[in-house]
Amino acid sequence: DTFSTYLNRIESQNNITVMKKTEILEFSGSFPKFLTLINTPDGTKKLTTNAVILATGFQPYNPSSLKQYGYGLLGDVVTSFELERMLKDGHFFRPSNKEKPEIVVFIQCVGSRDCGFNDYCSDFCCNNAVKLAKIIRRSHPDVRVSVFYIDMRTPYEGENEFRDARRLGVHFYRGKPAQVRKDGDSLTVEVEDTLENDLVFAKASLVVLSIGGVPDPTVNQLSEAMHVDLSDSGFFAVDETMVGTNVEGIFVVGAASGPKDTAYSMVQGSCAAAKVEVLFRTSLNPKVS
Ligand code: SF4
Repeated sequence: DTFSTYLNRIESQNNITVMKKTEILEFSGSFPKFLTLINTPDGTKKLTTNAVILATGFQPYNPSSLKQYGYGLLGDVVTSFELERMLKDGHFFRPSNKEKPEIVVFIQCVGSRDCGFNDYCSDFCCNNAVKLAKIIRRSHPDVRVSVFYIDMRTPYEGENEFRDARRLGVHFYRGKPAQVRKDGDSLTVEVEDTLENDLVFAKASLVVLSIGGVPDPTVNQLSEAMHVDLSDSGFFAVDETMVGTNVEGIFVVGAASGPKDTAYSMVQGSCAAAKVEVLFRTSLNPKVS
């Protein structure tokens, strides 16, 4: 809904052209003149631009390969994105039997902070789990909600939300679950509680995997075509301004440089727009800006 509101606002601006279903075929040039050949529903077109802002977003991590958590194998294991959709649609039930879950267990850092593959923090998933846990406790106070985490990373306003969630009765345990297994009609989450040094077998009727983000598949092609460096995690690499790249005139915003929430992405959008304006003012004919 938020996205549609912004899109409508953007499309109604006279000086902005939104091109949907459009593909970049070729890219060349350097600041201050980039040439892009695009394929649009109305045919092939050439674009000349003075600057480029990349905003590819990210893709949700697919947890199917983490067999120990049973996603795709156990019906009542869902991702946080799927839970969000279920709550939005008013379909808060166990996929296996369409009954309301009695115990919901969140597993944090799924597909993030793992030295075996994605070692970065996905930034948004702690706040997202707190938000979803609060929604469940508020609308279904009879449902027990537990969150298993490595660290809860909820800076700024998120800290108040975290406190609020605890006040609402959400239980937080430090420890990364080893596995989720079927136990009769329900699920059991095996986890070492690293604060209590205790092995916990938590019963659950619905397990929610707080998945992180991975680079959008377009990132590699864009990086190659535009000669923009990538970071070790496979997202676009940014300089100390957090939006500049190794190529003058090309900027990166939002999750294109690593997963982040909407608020931070919007701040980066404004920052990149300001950087472009400064670049134009200092390098181009003032009329351009
Ligand atoms: S935001 Fe939280 S859940 Fe997400 S990767 Fe970072 S620590 Fe893990």
